[in-house]
Amino acid sequence: MRATIMPKAHDVRIDNVPDAAIKDPTDAVIRITRACICGSDLWPYNGGPNVEGQRMGHEAIGVVEDVGRDVRTVKRGDVVIMPFANSDGNCMFCEEGLQTACVHVGFFGNGGPLDGAQAEALRIPFADGTLYPLNVGEEDGLMPALLTLSDVMGTGHHAAVTARVRRGGTVAVVGDGAVGLCGVIAAKRLGAEQIIIMGRHEQRIALAKEFGATDVVSERGEEGMQRVRELTRGFGVQSVLECVGTEQAMDTSMGIVRAGGAVGRVGVPHYEAIKGAQQMFYRNVIVAGGPAPTRAYIDELLPDVMEGRIEPGRVFDRTVDLDGVPDGYRAMNEREALKVLIRP
Ligand SMILES: [Zn+2]
Repeated sequence: MRATIMPKAHDVRIDNVPDAAIKDPTDAVIRITRACICGSDLWPYNGGPNVEGQRMGHEAIGVVEDVGRDVRTVKRGDVVIMPFANSDGNCMFCEEGLQTACVHVGFFGNGGPLDGAQAEALRIPFADGTLYPLNVGEEDGLMPALLTLSDVMGTGHHAAVTARVRRGGTVAVVGDGAVGLCGVIAAKRLGAEQIIIMGRHEQRIALAKEFGATDVVSERGEEGMQRVRELTRGFGVQSVLECVGTEQAMDTSMGIVRAGGAVGRVGVPHYEAIKGAQQMFYRNVIVAGGPAPTRAYIDELLPDVMEGRIEPGRVFDRTVDLDGVPDGYRAMNEREALKVLIRP
C-alpha cells in the first residue's frame, strides 16, 4: 500500500510500505477514506526533529476492513472517526474523559509509535476504545465536518473548555489557523459574548467572523496586546485560546489574560518555559490545556455537526489525492491553503 513518509524537513514522499495488518487481537485495520494535513505536521516539515521513515498523518475517517478477535464495538464495513491518539477505553483516564493520558495511549504518525493516516490504510490499536462508529455513508456530504472531530474541532473545543469559556464571557483566540478558527466556533457555541481573533490573513479573518468572531486584532506583540486591552476596558479577556505553540503566542496569551482568567493551550509548545510566574500568581491566572481528548468530545459535538449548527468542515479549502500530498504540505506551509483534505 502507499503512505506518506517524511524522512527529513521539506521532503514529503508517497512510498510503498507493507500493508496495514492486524497484530494484536484488539486491533482493527481501516481503509482511509478522508485524511488531512495538520498545522503540527508543519513543525517537522520546517526542521524537525525527524526520524527515519517517519509516517505522517493523524486525522482520519475510514472504513473498517478487518478486526482482531477481541474487538466488539466496531465491525467490518463500519464508517469510523479515528481520533489522533489511540486509547484503551477502560483505564482510569479514559473513564475520566482524558483519553490522551490513557495508560495505553499512542499517537498516530509524526514520528510517534504508530503509523500515519496520510495513507491508504492504517492499523488501529485498541479499536474499541479508539474508533468512533458513525451512522453515515462513506460519501456523506458532511464528511469534511466529521473529519474535524478527529482533531481540529475537538482541539479548538478543548482550548475553549480549558480556557473556561463561559456564557457571556470574553475570549481571545491567538492564531488564525484551522484550530484557531475551530476555537472561535467552540467559544461561540459555549456562549461567549466577545470573541477577539488575533491574526492577519484576510480570508481566515473573514471565516472567523462568519464563525462568530466579534473583533479582529491584526497587530502583533505589544501593540496587539494593547489593542486587546483597549477592547476589554483595559483588563484583558477571561479566556485565551492559545492555538499556535510559539513563544510569542504564549507571551501574547499571558499578556492579554485578565486577573482570574485562564489560558487554554493547544498549540504544541515550542518553548521551554512560560514567562511571568510572579504575575501569574498575583493575578490568579490559570494555565491549562494539552493534547485534546477528542475521543471524549465526539459525543458532545457530533449532534451539532450532524444538524449543521456548526460548520467546522469549512476550514478545508483544498482537496488532494495521495500524489497531491507533497504539494499540499507546501501550500499549507506557504499559507496558500488553510487546511488540506486528502482523499487517498
Ligand atoms: Zn485508557
